[in-house]
Amino acid sequence: MSTPLLGGVEAGGTKVVCAIGTGPDDIRHRATIPTTTPVRTLAEVIEFFSEHARRGQAVTALGVASFGPLDLDPASPQYGHITSTTKPGWAGTDIAGLLGRRLAVPVALDTDVNGAAYGEARWGAARGLHNAVYLTVGTGIGGGAVVAGRPLRGLIHTEMGHLHVQRHPDDSYRGGCPFHGDCVEGLASGPALAARLGRPAQDAGPDTSAVVAMQAFYLAQLITAITYLLSPQRIVLGGGVAQLPGLLDAVRAETVTRLGNALDAAAFTDDVDRYLTAPGLDDMSGVLGALGMAADLADSTRTAATPP
Ligand code: ADP
Ligand code: ZN
Repeated sequence: MSTPLLGGVEAGGTKVVCAIGTGPDDIRHRATIPTTTPVRTLAEVIEFFSEHARRGQAVTALGVASFGPLDLDPASPQYGHITSTTKPGWAGTDIAGLLGRRLAVPVALDTDVNGAAYGEARWGAARGLHNAVYLTVGTGIGGGAVVAGRPLRGLIHTEMGHLHVQRHPDDSYRGGCPFHGDCVEGLASGPALAARLGRPAQDAGPDTSAVVAMQAFYLAQLITAITYLLSPQRIVLGGGVAQLPGLLDAVRAETVTRLGNALDAAAFTDDVDRYLTAPGLDDMSGVLGALGMAADLADSTRTAATPP
């Protein structure tokens, strides 16, 4: 029997990436759809999967890794909805329910960063590891975790980008988080960097050493906190801002300094280049993680349907 086709959707604040396939080496179709209104955007997502279904390439399950906040409590009447997002028009969108009903497939939903963490743990830079974290530093800062092989869930989901950090002594920027001002997202996301520089992060210019040092100062504090809280086997650093030349190495060095010789820090610092690493799936971590979630859902549905 051939492997059933699966669908993956990574829903981000600016674009939605859709894929049909069975894994990273077998992506049959892919589409990128701009994130506008929920009605328009989700109609395009539905059309992408419907069109391929009409051509005999229907997916048996769909994984959705979405921006949030999300209601992930299966017992909640709002399960599968995007909840209190500041993204205009999207609060209250039943993203999982809508896609599942219109495409008539089971849907696995998680956050975009949990999806990316799962993708990296299943197929990417954290392959074979049971405990790993994916951090994105882009328009916002967020972190997802795989713990004991599963994306981490709690009462809701993690919000690692909203941790508070010590301010850099030379930083006069007040912080741009709409909720907290100077949490780590407020101080070290792409927009924070742009607000300090007066131009987008990717146009930081030839001498980025001060920018990189300040970013590393903030991100290493987040990574130190994650290290102490979760003790992951690997942390994958993704997102647009992580492309800043020299940033990854500066974050590694600052993290080694911060963890110092305390406790068993050597477990992380001795091979910090492996502990803190770039994504192995480039910009496909999220959508591939969603595909992996769909694969697990298809497996569990099949197992449940098999008579004893
Ligand atoms: P999003 O977080 O919206 O999903 P990205 O991860 O691409 O998307 O992050 C976008 C942010 O990253 C923007 O603030 C942008 O200025 C910044 N950015 C994108 N490319 C680079 C780059 N090469 N160097 C530094 N910053 C970048
Ligand atoms: Zn915040």
